[in-house]
Amino acid sequence: MLPNYRRCISCRKVASKEAFWRIVRVYPSGQLQLDLGMGRSAYLCPEQECLKAAQKKNRLGKALRARVPQEIYQTLWERLGAVSPGAASRGSATRTTHEMQRATRTTQETLAAGPGDLSPKQPDCSRSTV
Ligand SMILES: [Zn+2]
Repeated sequence: MLPNYRRCISCRKVASKEAFWRIVRVYPSGQLQLDLGMGRSAYLCPEQECLKAAQKKNRLGKALRARVPQEIYQTLWERLGAVSPGAASRGSATRTTHEMQRATRTTQETLAAGPGDLSPKQPDCSRSTV
């Protein structure tokens, strides 16, 4: 491969790196960003088909070995003048998943700690919740 030539992660087309979007997993923070930064990079044609494949098949995530935030795809779709298929569910999905995993682990630890209250049907006379 010629110097300064890169390969699209979706369609495998080879072209000058200026022809592609560059998505970078910045070192050492691990943050994903576009165009700039030092770190592991992935290249993608600025085309709907390639973006769609990269998103649907998680080619970007696999190429970068990182979780790709919805915002990255969102920005790329906006560059194409299109609306992201996942635009409705945009938000901090990464953080939510992380918190869910932590919550699950806490629940499992609680369950492992003991049988818990096996008689939940206590008469509720001590509490006066109306
Ligand atoms: Zn491509």
